[in-house]
Amino acid sequence: MNTDELIASSKEYIMNTYNRIPVVLVKGEGTKVWDSDGKMYLDFVAGIAVCNLGHSHPRVVEAICKQAAMLTHVSNLYHIQPQIEYARLLVQNAFPGQVFFCNSGAEANEGAIKLARKYSCEKHGPGRYEIISMENSFHGRTMATITATGQKKFQVGFEPLLDGFRYAPFNDVAALEKAITEKTCAILLEPIQGEGGIKIPDPDYLAQVRKLCNERGLLMILDEVQVGMGRTGTLFAYQDSGIEPDIMTLAKAIGNGYPIGAMLAKKEVASVFVPGNHAATFGGNPLGMAAALATLKTMLDERVVEHCAGMGRYFMAALEHLKQKHAVIREVRGKGLIVGIELTVEGAGIVSRCRELGALINCTAGNVLRFVPPLTVTAEEIDQVVGILDAALGEVK
Ligand code: PLP
Repeated sequence: MNTDELIASSKEYIMNTYNRIPVVLVKGEGTKVWDSDGKMYLDFVAGIAVCNLGHSHPRVVEAICKQAAMLTHVSNLYHIQPQIEYARLLVQNAFPGQVFFCNSGAEANEGAIKLARKYSCEKHGPGRYEIISMENSFHGRTMATITATGQKKFQVGFEPLLDGFRYAPFNDVAALEKAITEKTCAILLEPIQGEGGIKIPDPDYLAQVRKLCNERGLLMILDEVQVGMGRTGTLFAYQDSGIEPDIMTLAKAIGNGYPIGAMLAKKEVASVFVPGNHAATFGGNPLGMAAALATLKTMLDERVVEHCAGMGRYFMAALEHLKQKHAVIREVRGKGLIVGIELTVEGAGIVSRCRELGALINCTAGNVLRFVPPLTVTAEEIDQVVGILDAALGEVK
C-alpha cells in the first residue's frame, strides 16, 4: 500500500479518536524519524514524552530482543526476575516503598485512586473517600481518571462521573485548603500540568501541599506520568522540591516505548493492598520489565538526566531569543525538556508548517506549542528545530 492508501485504510478501520497528522511513520533512530515516503523529521514529540532515550536505543532494543527469545510473558501468579530487579532499582532511585505495575498512565492513576480509598477506609473507617484534584489537570481517559481530570471537555457525554472527586485551582494552596472536607482522603496533582499547557507552579508549591497533607492527614499523590523519568532535569519532578509524595504514578517513558505503567507507594500505604484487591494481566511482564530495566540503567549510566537539564537550559534560552523576534509568542515556559510556547493564536497551523519543514512538534491546550524531545537530543538538533520554528513563526500573519 502507498501512503495515501494506508491513510485511507486507517480512516476506514481505526476509530476516530485522534486528529491524526497525515503521515505514516515507519522508522526511528535517536531524535530522527522517517515517514513512508522516506522524508526525515526531527521528532520533538517523542511519542508524547515517551522515547526519552530516543527512538530504538540500542541497549533497549537488545534487552527486548534477548528477553523476547527467553521468556515473553508468564503471569503475576509467579515471581518474575526482571520485575523484581526493576522494582528495586526504581525504589532505590525514588523513595522507599513498593511498586504495582500496569500498562498505562490512566491505569496507574486508577490504582492510586483505589489504593488511597482502601488506605483511608482501613485507617479512618468508611466515608472518607474524597480525592481533591486540580482544575486544568489531566489524569487519563478511564471513568475514574476523566473524573479526576479537572477539565470539562474530557467529561462531557460520559456522565454520570464517579462520586468522590472535588477540584481546586492549581498552584493555590489557600484554595486547596478550603476545598478539604471531612470526607477528603487524598490530594492528586501533577508537579507540572502537561496536557493543561505546561503550567509550572511556584517553586515551593509542592512543599506547601505536602505540609497541608501532613497537617490534615491526607495522602499526597503525584502524577508523574508525563514529567517523570528524567524529563524535568531530575529523575522525578518532585526531587528538587525537598519532599516525597505518598504515592507516585508513572508510565510514558518507563519502557522507552514499550507500554508500562507503575504506581509506587510508601510501604505503610502499599501494605493495604492484599491479594485480590488489584491486578493487571500484563503488568510488569518479563518483556516490559527488560525494556524498563535497560531504559533506567542507561539513563543512570549515561547521565541522561544531567544532559537533559543542560539541553533544557540551552533550548529555553534559544526560545527566549525567538520571543524577542515574534510578537505572536506570549510566553516561553519549561523545565528540563518539557517546554511550552504560549501563542497569541491557535497553534495547529504552526505545527503543520513545522512538519512540512521537517520538525515534529505538538500543540496542547489550543495555543501552547509543546516540545518534549528525547532527553538525548543534541544542541545541533535543537538549533535546527529553533530555525524551523523561527521560519514558521515568521509566516504568521
Ligand atoms: N497523567 C498524565 C499527567 C498524563 O500526561 C497522561 C497522558 O498524557 C496520563 C496520565 C494518561 O496516560 P495514558 O495515556 O498512558 O493512560
